[in-house]
Amino acid sequence: GTEITTPHIAMLATPGMGHLIPLAELAKLLVSKHGFTATLMTFASTASKTQQAFLSSLPSSISHVSLPPVSLSDLPPGAALETLISLEAVRLIPAITSALKELKTRHNVVGFVADLFGADTFDAARDAGLRSYLFFPSNLLTLSLMLHLPEIDANLTCEFKELAEPVQLPGCVPIPGTEILSPLQDRSNECYKWMVHHGKKYREADAILVNSFDEIEPDVAKILCQPEPGRPPVYPIGPLIQTGSTVDKEGRAECLDWLDKQPANSVLYVSFGSGGTLTKEQMDEVAHGLELSGQRFLWVVRSPSGAGDLSSNYYDAESKRDPFAFLPEGFRERTKERGMVVSSWAPQMKVLAHEATGGYVCHCGWNSTLETVMHGVPIIAWPLFAEQKQNAVMLSEGAGIALRLEKREDDVVEREEIARKVRELMEGEEGKRVRRKVTELKEAAAEGMKEGSSSMALARWWRCGGKVVVGVKDADEV
Ligand code: UDP
Repeated sequence: GTEITTPHIAMLATPGMGHLIPLAELAKLLVSKHGFTATLMTFASTASKTQQAFLSSLPSSISHVSLPPVSLSDLPPGAALETLISLEAVRLIPAITSALKELKTRHNVVGFVADLFGADTFDAARDAGLRSYLFFPSNLLTLSLMLHLPEIDANLTCEFKELAEPVQLPGCVPIPGTEILSPLQDRSNECYKWMVHHGKKYREADAILVNSFDEIEPDVAKILCQPEPGRPPVYPIGPLIQTGSTVDKEGRAECLDWLDKQPANSVLYVSFGSGGTLTKEQMDEVAHGLELSGQRFLWVVRSPSGAGDLSSNYYDAESKRDPFAFLPEGFRERTKERGMVVSSWAPQMKVLAHEATGGYVCHCGWNSTLETVMHGVPIIAWPLFAEQKQNAVMLSEGAGIALRLEKREDDVVEREEIARKVRELMEGEEGKRVRRKVTELKEAAAEGMKEGSSSMALARWWRCGGKVVVGVKDADEV
C-alpha cells in the first residue's frame, strides 16, 4: 500500500494565554481528528508558571519548543505590548528558521502556523521551504479591520476617535472610531505602525484560520469566505475553547460549591478577564450596583487600577495581600445571602457551564465571549482594552447576545445603571431576547464544530487524499 507519513504541523504562539490556549486547541483538533502531530513554539519571555503548567498538560503528540531569549533592551521604556511582541517575533526569525529546518529532519512537516503578532515569522517558514498560515484568535470583524488597515491608514487624515462617521467594514456592524481596537487609537505610537505592518503581512499567508464561526457574524463570514484576489482564503474554524483543565489539582473551587446551592439561571457572573482592572471609584459603583440589583452574583474581584502608574502599582501590591479590602464597608456582610466574591481568578469554564449561572458581566475578550456562547449564557458588555470595545458593539448590535451599559462623560458607569441592566438581563424582556439569541448561537456553534461549517472549514483547509495537502486553493473538493 501507499505509505503515508504522519503530517506534522509547526505552530508559533506569541505571548498571552489568550493566544496560546486556542492555538493549542487547534493542535489538539488536528491530532484527534486528522492524525497530526504538532510542535508548539513559544517565546522565552513568557515562560510563566501558568504557561508551563498548561504546556505540560498537553497530549504527548504535541511537543513544545521554547525559543531562545532575545534582548529588547534597546526599546524605550513604556513601549506598548504589541510593539514588544512584534519586535521579539522579528528577532526570532533566524531561531525559528533553524527550529523548522531541524523539525523537518525528523517529521513530515506540512506547514507553519503563526498567530496574529507573528506574521513576520512567515519569512522563517519560507526559508525553511514551508507554507505559512495565520491563526487569528479573534473574530472576523477584527480580521477584516486588520486586512483593510493599510488602505484605511493611507486615507485617514485624523485619529480614529475624531472620525465623524463610524468605520464601516464590509458585512460588519458600523464601529464608532472611539471603539476601534486600542493599539490603533494613537497613530503616532509605534504599536499603530506595527498593526498596519501586520495587516500587510497577513496577505502573505497561504491561508488564514480564524477562531470564529459563520453564525455569530454571518454577513462578514459570507464575504471573507469568498475567494478574493490578493487575499488568502479565510477559514472560520471556531469556536475553539479550552478543553481539559490544569487548575483542578487544588480540588474543587469553593465558588462551585456555592453555585450548587443556587437556583438554576439565577446567578450573574462578573469578571473582567485575565488582565482587566477597574478604578477604585468604578469598583465601588459595581459593588453598589450589584447590591441594588437584588440579584445573585459571583464576582471575581481584582485590585483596582489607579489613575497613574504609581498608584496602580501601589494598589496591585496592596491587593495581593487582600483584594477584598477595596470593597465598600460592610458590602460582603450585607450581600452574603446572595453574593459571593472570589479573589483574582475563577474557574471560568466551570462557572459558565454551571446551571446556576444565568448571566455574565463580560469584558468581551474573545475567548471569554466564545466560552459564554458555548454555554448559552447572555452577557452585559463591559469592554476595557484591545479589541474588546469593537467586540461589544458587534455582540450587542450584530449578534444580539449582549446588553450595553450607558457611561457617564468621564467613562464611569453609575450604580443605578448597573443595577438596571443587571435586572434587565436576569429578569427583563431584553434579557429574554438576548438569552434566546445566545441559545440559538450555542446550538449553531456546537453543530458547526461537530459536522457543520467550522469542521468543514478545517477539513477544507487540511485535506488528505493519500498525500498531505494543506491549504488547497480550490476549497470545494473535500
Ligand atoms: N479566565 C479564567 N478565570 C478568570 C479570568 C479569565 O479562567 O478569572 C480565562 C477565561 O476562561 C479565558 C481567558 O482566561 O479563557 C481570558 O481570555 P480572553 O480572551 O477572554 O480575555 P483576556 O483575559 O485575554 O483579556
